[in-house]
This record gives sequence, structure tokens and C-alpha cells, in this order.
Amino acid sequence: MVSKIYGADWVVPVASAPLRDAVVAIEAGRIAFVGPAAQLPGHLRDEKIDWTKGVITPGLVNAHTHLQYTGFDALGRGQYRGFEDWSVAFEAHYHTDRDASEWGKAAARGAKLGLASGTTVFSEIITSDEARGAIAAAQASGIEYLEVIAETTRSWANGGRAELINWLDDRATIATGISPHAPYNLDPSVVGDLVELARSRDLRLHTHLGESALEEAFYLTGDPAVLFIYGDLRDEYHLVQQKGSGLKTAAYADSVGLLGECTHIAHGVYFDRCQRDLLRERNTRVALCPRSNAVIGLAEAPVAAYLAEGHDIAVGTDSLASTPSLDLMADVKALARIAHDQGYRENDLWRRVMQAATRGGARALGMAEKGYGALVAGGPADLAFFAIDVADGNVERALVEQGEGQCVLTIAQGHIVHDSRKQMG
Ligand SMILES: [Zn+2]
Repeated sequence: MVSKIYGADWVVPVASAPLRDAVVAIEAGRIAFVGPAAQLPGHLRDEKIDWTKGVITPGLVNAHTHLQYTGFDALGRGQYRGFEDWSVAFEAHYHTDRDASEWGKAAARGAKLGLASGTTVFSEIITSDEARGAIAAAQASGIEYLEVIAETTRSWANGGRAELINWLDDRATIATGISPHAPYNLDPSVVGDLVELARSRDLRLHTHLGESALEEAFYLTGDPAVLFIYGDLRDEYHLVQQKGSGLKTAAYADSVGLLGECTHIAHGVYFDRCQRDLLRERNTRVALCPRSNAVIGLAEAPVAAYLAEGHDIAVGTDSLASTPSLDLMADVKALARIAHDQGYRENDLWRRVMQAATRGGARALGMAEKGYGALVAGGPADLAFFAIDVADGNVERALVEQGEGQCVLTIAQGHIVHDSRKQMG
């Protein structure tokens, strides 16, 4: 059997406590052993160990991204005054002339950028079919959530639904999910149908929720401001005609069946305690995207509150249309900074935000039981190596503070998919 053993100053299995001077053995694409070299099983004891200075972690889980927008990087280097301001810039970019094959090329580039910074699992939203398949082609894992956006009851009946069914029936290279873009641009009957379709096909759901400051007024009173880019179509929306549901964002999402263990949401910026509690009661996980929120000009998400209230958070980069890089460790660092600024003082901060980028993300995608987001014997051989110094023995803090830009080796499903150690000399 082909085997390979990697060692480092530290190994952070996430599922168990960090280990000093430890090794991870890989056999046939799976992890065979995690622990001190002296305890390697007999048949592996004579193998050469490939030592790297630094820290080995599980492959990271990017719980929210749109890799097809990797070519929109000029947008992500900008600064906007809120979701609506950013949407105008995005729409203008989206409607510029391009060959459809560009989406596939951009997604492939994005997957490579993610892998080069330690991500091996992606929660990927697919808007254009050409972007589908990029994750598997890059030897990464995850879920491709097929996106449904801007559908009223009428448009859904007049072809929207049939189109999605065809798309879902198309051959997939990795697991497929459904992404109702956001409940404000989909009529309640459409969201309900999507939830039902997901349930009947055993698919997971992923949606944007609590991202726009204007969203809540739409659900409460039918205020159409959040729909301003949809032109005349907005007057057709059920909630506009009904003058709202009287419910705040999370309660409205719950009322149309969207919350539950099989759904994870992106952003969760504009939620009060009551709404956060409802998410937790429904086991709906939140993928926080702090750098994207900052570029778009949103408020900072209540990270400290999510942590203090016991949420099992995840973290995502979002796309290069709203963030300067696909390096998930930069968002991990931002989460820790925001939580600290908001008054979070528990010393589990670094462990919790590292969990968000690994096990928390894997749970948000329903992939934790298969061993993703952790280094466990029998689990997938997804590893990331960070060339960092751990001066004070707090390896998780060192990862959070220094991990950005320091991934030197990434292994996905047992394959080396990124290795910059040679250039380091
Ligand atoms: Zn997004």
C-alpha cells in the first residue's frame, strides 16, 4: 500500500488536543495515524518522515464562496457604502460582455487559490453551469449549491422550476445542494418548493441571510428597498403586495421552512439575540464572512455574541467580488479581532475560530461525520501546513495570528495540490 508520513513541530487535529512534534501518516488517500512518531504502527515505522517546520492542520473548510467570480477581483479590492452600493457595482460588472466559458476558467483559478492557502473543502455557490465541476477537477471536496435567484410564483411556474429540475438531474462531479439566493428575491411559495425539493432529494441548502441592512424591513412590512436592482419585477413579489409578513429576517426564513439542520446561512450580520437564538434552536449554522462584510460596508457581525451564546460557527471568504483574497486564514484572523473588539475575553477564542475554519465548516456542510475538518484515523487525507513560529506554546493563537499567507503545503484526498516549500530554500 502506498504510504507517506508527514511530521511537523505541531499537529493540530482539531478533534483532539494539539500535539507537539507529531506525525500524520497517509495510506491510500486516508489518514492512517495521527500522533507521536514513536507510536507509529509497526508497518509504518521504517518509512521516511517528511518533516516540515511549522504546523499541520486539517484542510480548511471555506463555508461560503462563489469561485466563478474570481475574475471580479477588481471589485473586491474596492470599498462600498453598503450592500446596495456594492450590488450596483456588481451588476455592472456582471453584465459586461464575456464568453460563458470564462466562468469555468475563473472557478478553476479560484479553486487553485483556495488550495494554495490551505482550503480543501468548499461550500460553493454555482450560478452559471460552466462553473460546475471546478472543485472536483482541482481534487478538492465540498458541495456545489445550484443557485436560484429572483423568482416569483409566476416566473417559477413559467420555466424557472423546470430549469432547476433539469439542472439537478444533470450529472454532478461532487455533492450537489440547492442555494435559494436569499428569501427576499424569491417568493415564499418558491422557497417552500426549494426546501421540499431538497428534502425529497436529500440535498443540503445554503442561503444568504441577514446580509443587507434593508432586508428586515422587507420581511416586516414589504418595503421593497432591498429589491431596487430588480426594477419593475419587484412590484410582483408576494411580500411587496402583502405589505410584509410582520416577521423579522430569521423568523420569516423559518416561516417558509428554510431554517433547519440541513441549511447553513452566509453572513448573519443583522440579527438580534432573538433571531440568533432561533437559528441555534433550529441547528442552522452561520458562515461568517468578515472581510467581505467590511469591503461591502456592512456592520460587523455579532461574532462575540455568536461565540458566547454557543453557536457552532463556520467561516467563509465569499467571492473575490467582495474580498481581497481567498485566503480563509485572513478571515479567521478578522473573526478573532472582531470578537476581541466586541469584548470577547475567553481564552478559547483562538480554538473556536480555528474550529470555525475546520470542524465548524464541515458540520455546516454535513461532512463532519465523514471526517472532514479534522485529522482522524480513517478520515480523508486533507492536510494544510503552515510555516509559522509557535513561540509561547499556544499553537492555535499562532495559527490565527500568523496563518494568513503562510500555507506552504496542501494535501487533498492524499494528493499534493500545493507545495511552495521548495522555493523557500
Ligand atoms: Zn455570497
